Amino acid sequence: VKALVVDGGLSLVTEHPLPVPDADQTLLKIRKAGICNTDLEIVAGYGGFTGIPGHEFVADALTGPLSGQRVVGEINVACSACDFCLRGLPTHCRNRTTVGIRDHPGAFAEYLALATSNLHPLPDSISDDAAVFVEPLAAALQVLEMVHISPGSIVVLIGAGKLGLLVAQVIHLTGAHLKVIVRRSKPAQLLQTWGIQTFERDMVEAQSADIVIDCTGTQDGFADALALVKPRGTIVLKSTYVGLAQVNMSKLVVDEITVVGSRCGRFASAIRLLESGLIDTESLIEGRFSIEEGLLAFERAAQPGALKYLLEF
Ligand SMILES: [Zn+2]
Ligand SMILES: [Zn+2]
Repeated sequence: VKALVVDGGLSLVTEHPLPVPDADQTLLKIRKAGICNTDLEIVAGYGGFTGIPGHEFVADALTGPLSGQRVVGEINVACSACDFCLRGLPTHCRNRTTVGIRDHPGAFAEYLALATSNLHPLPDSISDDAAVFVEPLAAALQVLEMVHISPGSIVVLIGAGKLGLLVAQVIHLTGAHLKVIVRRSKPAQLLQTWGIQTFERDMVEAQSADIVIDCTGTQDGFADALALVKPRGTIVLKSTYVGLAQVNMSKLVVDEITVVGSRCGRFASAIRLLESGLIDTESLIEGRFSIEEGLLAFERAAQPGALKYLLEF
């Protein structure tokens, strides 16, 4: 089985063993998978992960009750028995593994065995291309789960990359006053097509946002968010990265700022939203590569300003 493998760098392995599903797992044949910033961070050492990365995918179920169906899969595999699982927080399960991120093989391989309870069959109206975005769109929707955004809120989004452009579309649907700070022309054009206001950094006043959403994926994003947020405002963090940010904690205290982290969201909601046709995912796809060209795909995906690269099987 062909797979991309992280082990002190990324390599293509052509004879990786075929995964054997446990009784509670389904064997999946991957159709397409998307490269996200987390994958780039993992190759750079984030989380100390070794093995097959990849967590945004659409696949065919080959075994189990969904056999023959096209599916997407939730990435956190929970134990259902720990205190967090029993409190309804399976994404925070103490014993969790996470597809392609933490102690679980990922989707940058021809086959993946995944817990059957994590799978969601897809309606025909959602294309394979769009289905790859279910996971990051669910993560974008999680912002709304974690912070109340009212139609009167002034929301500034920084980091108009792959995830930021999904978050922007989700926030736009709330009717809030959304301002996206952009540096590059491609995201600026996309946002304008969607009717979302774009600004250069120096056009947005300091302390002018009720809520700042940081999708920069960099350590510097937080300092910028702190400069933009109003006193008593909220900063929402969407990024994980290898390093540790330098934070002016005193400013958090003096300005009484709330900082909210947000990670994975509900797949069912993301599938419903994609079905509605209200989210443009196709424009975010910048290139497609076969698994054999996986290293080249990663190279392209790592270029500054790159949008979504897909691996096709
Ligand atoms: Zn991701
Ligand atoms: Zn648990």
